[in-house]
Amino acid sequence: MSSLRFKVVEEAFDRKAVAVEIPAERPDAYYGKAVFNRKKMYEYLPKDTYDALISAIEDKKPISRSLADSVAEGMKRWAVDNGARHYTHWFHPLTDGTAEKHDAFIEPDGKGGVVEEFSGKLLVQQEPDASSFPNGGIRNTFEARGYSAWDISSPAFILDGTLCIPTIFVSYTGESLDYKTPLLRALNAVDRAAADVARLFNPAVKHVKSYLGWEQEYFLVDEALFSARPDLVLTGRTLMGHESAKNQQLEDHYFGAIPSRVEAFMLDLEIEAHRLGIPVKTRHNEVAPNQFELAPIFEETNLANDHNLLVMTLMAEVARRHNFRVLMHEKPFSGINGSGKHNNWSLGADCGDMLFSPGKTPEDNLRFLTFIVNVMAAVHKHNGLLKASIMSATNAHRLGANEAPPAIISIFLGSQLSDVLNKLENATPEQLSDLSAKSGRSLGLAQIPELLLDNTDRNRTSPFAFTGNRFEFRAVGSSANCASAMIALNAAVADQLATFYNTIKKRLDGGEDLKDALLDEIRVLYKASKAIVFDGNGYSDEWKEEAERRGLDCETSAPKIFDAYLSPESVAMFGRTGVFSPVELQARNEVKWEMYTKKVQIEARVLGDLAINHIMPVATRYQSLLVDNVVKLKDLFPGVKGAKVVAHDLDTIEKISQHMDIIKTETDRMIEARKEANAISDEREKAIAYHDNVIPPMEVIRRHIDKLELMVDNEMWPLPKYRELLFIR
Ligand code: ADP
Ligand code: MG
Repeated sequence: MSSLRFKVVEEAFDRKAVAVEIPAERPDAYYGKAVFNRKKMYEYLPKDTYDALISAIEDKKPISRSLADSVAEGMKRWAVDNGARHYTHWFHPLTDGTAEKHDAFIEPDGKGGVVEEFSGKLLVQQEPDASSFPNGGIRNTFEARGYSAWDISSPAFILDGTLCIPTIFVSYTGESLDYKTPLLRALNAVDRAAADVARLFNPAVKHVKSYLGWEQEYFLVDEALFSARPDLVLTGRTLMGHESAKNQQLEDHYFGAIPSRVEAFMLDLEIEAHRLGIPVKTRHNEVAPNQFELAPIFEETNLANDHNLLVMTLMAEVARRHNFRVLMHEKPFSGINGSGKHNNWSLGADCGDMLFSPGKTPEDNLRFLTFIVNVMAAVHKHNGLLKASIMSATNAHRLGANEAPPAIISIFLGSQLSDVLNKLENATPEQLSDLSAKSGRSLGLAQIPELLLDNTDRNRTSPFAFTGNRFEFRAVGSSANCASAMIALNAAVADQLATFYNTIKKRLDGGEDLKDALLDEIRVLYKASKAIVFDGNGYSDEWKEEAERRGLDCETSAPKIFDAYLSPESVAMFGRTGVFSPVELQARNEVKWEMYTKKVQIEARVLGDLAINHIMPVATRYQSLLVDNVVKLKDLFPGVKGAKVVAHDLDTIEKISQHMDIIKTETDRMIEARKEANAISDEREKAIAYHDNVIPPMEVIRRHIDKLELMVDNEMWPLPKYRELLFIR
């Protein structure tokens, strides 16, 4: 009998909410306390240093060594005043997490003691070595040096007594080895291109910012149950487990009352996040049992992304204090919803105009439509790339799998906006000149804001939806670094806007009227890219066929989806926007394939171990109990009666054998497929072999283990079951 399982279930079910230390002050008093924000800078830096730093941040200028020294001195004083003893360059390697290597502030004072120091040199640049991070072959061993360099646009903060300085991470030869470097490049590109277009409408525009509001979904599991599931511990998801009789059918979890243990965790997390200046605001239950969501108020994309990564770190830490483990995996449990991270994205000009918001006048709405159709065009042209930007071994279980949208990128505009664009596309010359001349009533251009207010049909199945004043990129995975999606999206839109601007400029130079030129180009773009618009049910099979006909990327194999980064269109687009060089793209894809292979490899190993060492022995033991019983019963009831009495046991004995046979055969097949794949040296080919040959036997093994779970004596079953994992008391 599996005493361990009953012990941990009991432990988990008995657990009470952990008390949270609630600060005496209101949030406004401790909000941002652990951040070296402008208020702290003003307090700790000399006035001229402060002014010079702020203008460098705002105008994106490099900073001098003496300025860095002065900032470092003030930053250190603030950090030490707030209890920090160490500092670290905090960066985002290509592993979907953050990295840090701590150093104490101490330096020898020459008299056998130490002083606490921090120089501009250490602030600005460091060589963390970090040669074991994935780099796709850019850094071979003799030049295995990577540099981290200060990102002045994101403020330093104190986490667990360490001053963390957000940095980029690049190779000795200047290639990016992280997510932040290309993100900053993409944000610069979209700033330049969008500002050019925005100035056609308002000459006062200097800069355009990209904004991101992420909605982080996650699961919580009690730590005792978590620890009793080697698959959760090692892979972040359950590799087996029969569906619970009740899961999300009754839809009673979504927006339901939050269990008190979870509420305590959330409160604790919010307090920590607010101290770090992360504006988390919304929390609620999600659709699946034990699934929750956290969302902040949106911020500039680079900062928002730093904050998301920081929140993910905090969540893991705070969860432990509450005897939970947080699961960021996109599909921790089969048969119920997976977790995503909706990326709410918009562009805003420095004069305050939000570029995806309709305005009060037809002119404002012309700007609105200009930006909307340019996003459409970019997403249409690069739909395969955008899919690649959100794809990973883990997100592959969520997209294109059961209970999830297919792995096809399309845009939901809503019927009202589609109507406006369709009318515009088919407008007569009279209607168009009416718009140029007067209010544009006949085309409904003036009424867009009212239309959107009524726009209640918010399609939940769309991977990329327009939601009134922003786009919501919903295909992003819960464990992902949002930067991957934000790099591809901002770069693609920047490139499209630059092309658009040049076209308009040529027409203006040719003497055309601005409004006429804009209207015409909007029509051209809309016509060319409306194949990306899909307002129907993205989960349906008809959509897959329809998308295929429309020429959208319908590839479902993750390793092949990554190819989109290396297509001629992507390479050219990333080149023009200065976001990635061909060398970087190649190297990053090597990393993607390698990571894919490793993740599937680990899962396959864990599954093999569990199947052979945990499940088969238990099934055998139960089967042998039944066999004993059959022998004894036959003794007791000889002849025909005996045969009848043992019939159901015999049936179970035989079924268990059948399942075990398949589990054994498929495990052997899986191991063989792994061996063959491991012998392949090309990373892409290897990843494809893992996808094509290792994953299919894994799915069969799971199916048969799940069948055994329903047959074997409940008391013997070694792993906590879904019904135990999924319902926090
Ligand atoms: P939902 O109904 O999708 O849950 P919310 O109102 O909770 O939407 O908002 C989700 C996220 O979108 C939040 O982070 C919010 O700040 C963000 N958001 C709202 N407006 C914008 C915008 N214009 N640009 C970017 N993000 C935005
Ligand atoms: Mg949303």
